[in-house]
Amino acid sequence: MKSGNQRLKIYDTLSRQIQEVAPEDGRRLRFYCCGPTVYGPAHIGNFRTFVLQDVFRRTLELSGQPTQHVRNITNVDDKTIRESQAQGKTLTEFTHYWEDRFHADCDALNILPPHVEPAAVEHIPDQIQLIEKLVEKGHAYRAEDGSVYFKVQSLETYGALSRVKDRELTPQEESGAHKKGSPVSDDEYEAESMADFALWKARKQEDGPNYWDSPWGEGRPGWHIECSAMGMRYLGETFDLHSGGIDLIFPHHENEIAQSEACTCKPFARLWFHIAHLMVDGGKMSKSLGNLYTLDDLKERGFTANELRYTLGQGHYRQPLNFTFDSLKAARQALLRLGKVEAKLKAKLNDAPAPKLKKLTPRKVEDFQSLGDLQPAWDALMNDLNTPDALGKMFSAIKIIERGLGEASVEQIQEWRRGLWVLWSALGIEPVEPEAEPVPEAPEEIKALAQERWEAKQSKDWAKADELRGELQKAGWLVKDRKDGFDLVPV
Ligand code: AMP
Ligand code: ZN
Repeated sequence: MKSGNQRLKIYDTLSRQIQEVAPEDGRRLRFYCCGPTVYGPAHIGNFRTFVLQDVFRRTLELSGQPTQHVRNITNVDDKTIRESQAQGKTLTEFTHYWEDRFHADCDALNILPPHVEPAAVEHIPDQIQLIEKLVEKGHAYRAEDGSVYFKVQSLETYGALSRVKDRELTPQEESGAHKKGSPVSDDEYEAESMADFALWKARKQEDGPNYWDSPWGEGRPGWHIECSAMGMRYLGETFDLHSGGIDLIFPHHENEIAQSEACTCKPFARLWFHIAHLMVDGGKMSKSLGNLYTLDDLKERGFTANELRYTLGQGHYRQPLNFTFDSLKAARQALLRLGKVEAKLKAKLNDAPAPKLKKLTPRKVEDFQSLGDLQPAWDALMNDLNTPDALGKMFSAIKIIERGLGEASVEQIQEWRRGLWVLWSALGIEPVEPEAEPVPEAPEEIKALAQERWEAKQSKDWAKADELRGELQKAGWLVKDRKDGFDLVPV
């Protein structure tokens, strides 16, 4: 797309710079996304991250850059074990249920399935192998409790991603429960506890039957090691890009880098793509505040996954995005406007062939020289994946389209239509055509009044028919006559 050698650029957390996204091997862009922890339904904040990663992949592929996308399933960690135990279910039964639910939500949101979706439980031997190497190289040690910890001090470069070493601790943090230096066994912990972290956790009573054999005794892997093991297994020791929400920068991604690089002495991921958080009512989403929404919660309120996806595109990934129900309503209007444009373009084409790019699945479109009036919108995506800017520029193009539609040639209309579809395909949104809008059904008394008017009209009692039409209009309903009857639509 005019993009011959133009490449997608994104902000790289590691170098703190905008970087071109290019594959090291000159072929496929190999990237890894931390996937869901399957212990409950994913919330719309999680989906901000997964949707933006999907826009990233679609944009790359549409620009002619093939990808190899790996996204894992975390099905063994503190949370999955705790919840499955609390519900009296096996870890497998429990996590499969939530994994299926996650896939159904992704499907509804038009999120492409990753090329490989490995799960942590199926990769325990890979994780053990990695830990063995780290112990061998002196980067990890077995503590008295039988757990194995990564020795943070053993790696000079530890902290490069989050700059955690530069962070000044407040006196309160200094005296906090997790004293700097003492090992932590929790999977998740705060920046103040830059400390040795667990690679292997010794079996505990409360873990129930969820333990495996290892050279250090029975236990289970810590959370961070799974992504190092699965990332390297499916993408190689060094791959092109790694992604997740910003909360993962520390400790999770920092620890992934430490484990992998201490083991291989090679860079782990070349670029790091992090997505800022979705907020609700200007604050953090939380169960206790009652503002943590799932896709089902929105559906119950009459909104669609397509509308949520559009809403998530309204913010740039580097800025927090505030979610409101008004933003969903605005998304509905915007999608209808797109549907109207699409219907007009389609009608104008008559029997002329439609553009090939009909499906919302990405494919290489290198044969297009330019996207014409939609080019600025496409360029906004290529420039640091600026989805709100792309949407704005798309609507500017739509104004041009609407003004020029009367006089436009078939070729021009096809170019517009193709441009719009490329953009919708990259954003993963579907225009809502006007006929797809549900027409509300009139109440019985309105239907009876309209029937009375129809009969008056049939018997040529024009005065009565007009009077009844007026009455209906006052009640908020318009009568539209057909040859053999009538339709009622809200005013
Ligand atoms: P989890 O299932 O908790 O491991 O999270 C899945 C993904 O969602 C991770 O990449 C998180 O960083 C991301 N995430 C969690 N909360 C939010 C939020 N409020 N906004 C955007 N992304 C989030
Ligand atoms: Zn991860």
